[in-house]
Amino acid sequence: MKRIYLDYAATTPVDSAVIKEMLPYFNEIFGNPSSLHYFGRQASNAVEKARNIAAGFIGAKPEEIIFTSGGTESDNFALKGISWANSNKGKHIITSNIEHHAIFESCMFLEKNGFRVSYLPVEPSGILNPEEVKKAITRDTILITIMHSNNEIGTIQPIREIGHIARENDVYFHIDAVQSFGHIPLNVDELNVDMLSASAHKLYGPKGVGLLYIRKGTRIAPFMNGGSQERKLRASTHNVPGIVGFGKAIELASVNMNKESEFITSLRDKLINGILLDIDNTELNGDNIQRLPNNVNVSIKFVEGEGIILGLDLDGIAVSSGSACTSGSLEPSHVLKAIGRTADLAHGSIRMTLGKYNTEEEIDYTLEKLHVIVKRLRKMSPLLK
Ligand SMILES: *Cc1c(COP(=O)(O)O)cnc(C)c1O
Repeated sequence: MKRIYLDYAATTPVDSAVIKEMLPYFNEIFGNPSSLHYFGRQASNAVEKARNIAAGFIGAKPEEIIFTSGGTESDNFALKGISWANSNKGKHIITSNIEHHAIFESCMFLEKNGFRVSYLPVEPSGILNPEEVKKAITRDTILITIMHSNNEIGTIQPIREIGHIARENDVYFHIDAVQSFGHIPLNVDELNVDMLSASAHKLYGPKGVGLLYIRKGTRIAPFMNGGSQERKLRASTHNVPGIVGFGKAIELASVNMNKESEFITSLRDKLINGILLDIDNTELNGDNIQRLPNNVNVSIKFVEGEGIILGLDLDGIAVSSGSACTSGSLEPSHVLKAIGRTADLAHGSIRMTLGKYNTEEEIDYTLEKLHVIVKRLRKMSPLLK
């Protein structure tokens, strides 16, 4: 069966140019970058090359890039590292109520360890009003952490304005940019951010490698104690093939991102319009303008999201429910709840996230199948009787 993948926000396939770049680093250039000899130097050069590419991509300096094991680690590092290093100054953290679990769970861990966290509500569009951030700052605030774009509903936040407020109040500002990095332009100076998380597997790179940008002068505690890798902030032997692949993926993004985003946006709009116009009782979740190029999230009344996902899967189409993290549980997504969706609307939600390997024919096929499945499910729905 022909398979159609519409779950690029969960992960992406590795670009073949990235695989090609990585391969020699498994067995030919296999040295430990910390070794002084030839093998080590070759590996170290490759890591530094990737660091330069990553830094250039977001307007940072190479020494401000720390390689990690992924987006989750980068988020944990930023939140715990800032908290441990600045608790003498204050113990208050500000975040939103639509963050990724990597941020949420880190916040909850910090709350159990004497910190106080404000989870700010967002507008029904999914956008956080910067005024809310301003109001929440106290003399005790040490960190603001807000995601650049949301993994479920694709909403892009007014990061520059929030960063400006953080700076005026002398508070550190971290953004989880995992869904944006490599897809829309990011510049750490224009955005006024002190830290930024990214992950390779969301931009056609390998799984298990990410980065944390840390602005020079930021007071942060090491995340891993051990060797002196990554300026002693993140010990452990480098994942050289992973870092090399990440560098290549960023290089590809810096060349192709704008063109790809334009194409993906056209597929996205075709899909959104096809659903909203042709299937009655449907609603788009998230803002329709401040939105990732690849994100479609809709609520379809009188059906269960799970039913649609299974139906589409039988037709070879892979989509997700409101959130990859909540699928499998009966709890409606915290993001859909935060934008005011009722439980039954949230239960009838599906997320389709597109990528550079999708085609227009795939979108047509998906719309056709979705239409049939919704009709069938609604016929059987007790919600309609
Ligand atoms: C995927 C994702 C993460 C986690 O990244 P991993 O590399 O999978 O650990 C964090 N935040 C957001 C917004 C994500 O989409």
